[in-house]
Amino acid sequence: MNIGHYTFAEFRRLAEKFHGFAAPGILLGGRMVTAAMAALPEGTLFEALVETRSCLPDAVQLLTPCSVGNGRLHLVNHGKMALSLFDKYSGRGVRCFVDPSRLGPWPEIRAWFMKEKSKEQQDGALLEQEIEKAGNSFITLVGMIVDNSFLGKKSSGPVALCPCCGESYPRGHGDKCLLCQGETPFVMLPR
Ligand SMILES: [Zn+2]
Repeated sequence: MNIGHYTFAEFRRLAEKFHGFAAPGILLGGRMVTAAMAALPEGTLFEALVETRSCLPDAVQLLTPCSVGNGRLHLVNHGKMALSLFDKYSGRGVRCFVDPSRLGPWPEIRAWFMKEKSKEQQDGALLEQEIEKAGNSFITLVGMIVDNSFLGKKSSGPVALCPCCGESYPRGHGDKCLLCQGETPFVMLPR
């Protein structure tokens, strides 16, 4: 069973190249993205909403035209191995998740998913074999409709020059940029 247009081995190599290594979360994620895409009507222009920052966003970026940079990949961090693909205009789509009740035949996937084993106890090769064999049997799909706030074109509005730092910023942020308002997790060193 392919992952997108790739064989399992091809996708594994892609994941290695893009993500640094073929993490189980990307391989499972590849299965999830494939299942969700197959459930959408042919030709749907879709966006993605991913509920974890780990691994799954990279599977979406490898297999769909949705990326963080083009604004079609949305991250809502529930810490859950779940993803939705939805029609960009109607907001209707499908949500799929790793379903614990379907993991019975796949003990190594279950152990990884539920963090039942330490990294040292995990059998990485067996885990990959299970993911390869499992196809999409561990996934449950349900219909969903995304919140209106995810639909339509979003503009960041007019631009202004910050009176403190001289850089440009979205005027809607206030009379100075967010960095100069102190809302940033870093400090700038003197030039
Ligand atoms: Zn500034």
